[in-house]
Amino acid sequence: MKSARSPVAVWRGRDLFDGRVAESTTVILRTRGCRWNRCVMCGYAQEGVDASAEDIIAQFRSILDKVEGAELVKIYTSGSFLDPAEVPEAARLEILRSLRDMDVRRLVIESRPEYIDRLALEQILSFLDAEIGIGLESSSDLVRTYLINKGFTFFDFTGASDMIHSLGGRVKTYLLLKPPGLSEMEAIADAMRSARDAEPYSDIISLNLCNVQRNTPLERMWQRGGYRPPWLWSAVEVLREASLKIPVICDPVGAGARRGPHNCGTCDGYVAAAIRSFSLSQSRADLNVDCSCRSVWRKVLELEDLSFGVPLV
Ligand SMILES: [Zn+2]
Repeated sequence: MKSARSPVAVWRGRDLFDGRVAESTTVILRTRGCRWNRCVMCGYAQEGVDASAEDIIAQFRSILDKVEGAELVKIYTSGSFLDPAEVPEAARLEILRSLRDMDVRRLVIESRPEYIDRLALEQILSFLDAEIGIGLESSSDLVRTYLINKGFTFFDFTGASDMIHSLGGRVKTYLLLKPPGLSEMEAIADAMRSARDAEPYSDIISLNLCNVQRNTPLERMWQRGGYRPPWLWSAVEVLREASLKIPVICDPVGAGARRGPHNCGTCDGYVAAAIRSFSLSQSRADLNVDCSCRSVWRKVLELEDLSFGVPLV
C-alpha cells in the first residue's frame, strides 16, 4: 500500500558539483504526480497518491538523517516541484528552511516550464543555490511534440531558462536518447543536435537513456516489436562526441535489462560503469571500453534506416 507519508525513494550518492565530486542525496517525494501526464514513455504518475502539504512535510522529515552531510540535495517528485497543486507552498517553504538550516549547498529540483515563475524562483534562491531540471528531451519541436507528446516548445524551454539565469539560478537540461519512432542512427543525431542547441541555455546536460516503463504507450509499442531501447554504445557515442563547454552526465538507469538501454548482455555492466565514471570525471578516456558487439551496433546504424523503422537487433 502506497503511503502518503513515505517517499517513493531516497538514496545517497556522489555527483559532479562545480567540477568536483560531492556527496549527494536524492529524494523522490510521493505527490499526486505530473499534471500533464501524457508523455509516451512516462509511467511515473502510477507512483502518485493525493499527498497534502502535511504529508509531504512528513515524508521529507522521515529522510532527514539521509540529508545530513550532503552538499547537494536533489528533490524530485515524478512531476514538477514548482507545480503548487503537486507541492503546496507550505511544504516547499518547510523543505527550503530545513535544507538551509542543514547547510546544504545546492538544491536540485525538476519542473515543466509552465510552472517556472519568478516568485517561486526568487523564494527558492533566497534560501539556497538552486538548479532547476527541465525535461527538454529533444531540441526538435517535431520530435518532442509528435514522438514524445511533451506539450511544450523549445521556445518555452529557452524562456524558462532565461528567467532562471536572470535570477541567478542554474539550469539542468534533460535530453532523452532514443524517443520512439527514431532509428538508432537518428536517435544519436537528435541527441547530438539537441545537446548543441540546449548548451547556451544550460549549465549541465543530463542524457537520459530511454527505458520501457510499465503501462505506457511506449510499452505497447515495445511489446509489438516496434521499439528497442538505445544501445549503450549510442550513449557512449553521444557523450564522447558532443564536445560541449558544459558537463554532460548520464546515469544509465536499467542498463542491461530488456526494458532498459542495453548492448549484448556480456558488456552491459562495464559499459554502464564506464558511462558512470565519465559522468563524474568528464574524461573521455573513461569511455575507452570495447566488446565484439560494437561491430553489430555499427551494422545496425548502417542498416536500420533501410528497415522502415523496425528494430533489427
Ligand atoms: Zn557487448
